[in-house]
Amino acid sequence: MHEIAVLMKACDMAEQIAKDNRIRRIAYLRLEVGELTGYLPVFFEKYYPIAIEGRPVFEGSELIIDEVRGEGMCNACHSLYNIMKHEGRCPKCGSRDKTILGGQTFKIKDIGVAQEEEGDFEGSKEAPAGT
Ligand SMILES: [Zn+2]
Repeated sequence: MHEIAVLMKACDMAEQIAKDNRIRRIAYLRLEVGELTGYLPVFFEKYYPIAIEGRPVFEGSELIIDEVRGEGMCNACHSLYNIMKHEGRCPKCGSRDKTILGGQTFKIKDIGVAQEEEGDFEGSKEAPAGT
């Protein structure tokens, strides 16, 4: 179960990004999880509340996971196929010689910035950013 560790790391990074960009509250954290990474999105969802515990910037935030299929191209017959589904073998010619085209990535894709609607800081709430 490496999911908790990588998720913690992703949250660390997101927190740093938020800090650097003066984001006070994150609305959502969107992760790209490739099928071939072996990480199971269900565990990220399960561990997210634990990973964000004690991090105010994530309060009320949502975890969004974009799963990317493990696509491969057969080097023998140039067929495109799903690597997981076909266990790494070309369904057309049976060759294992392939080029992986996608699904190996784990990364932060996007961070949503929450709108400050509560106005929980001193000062005017009616301060629209720009006109
Ligand atoms: Zn083939």
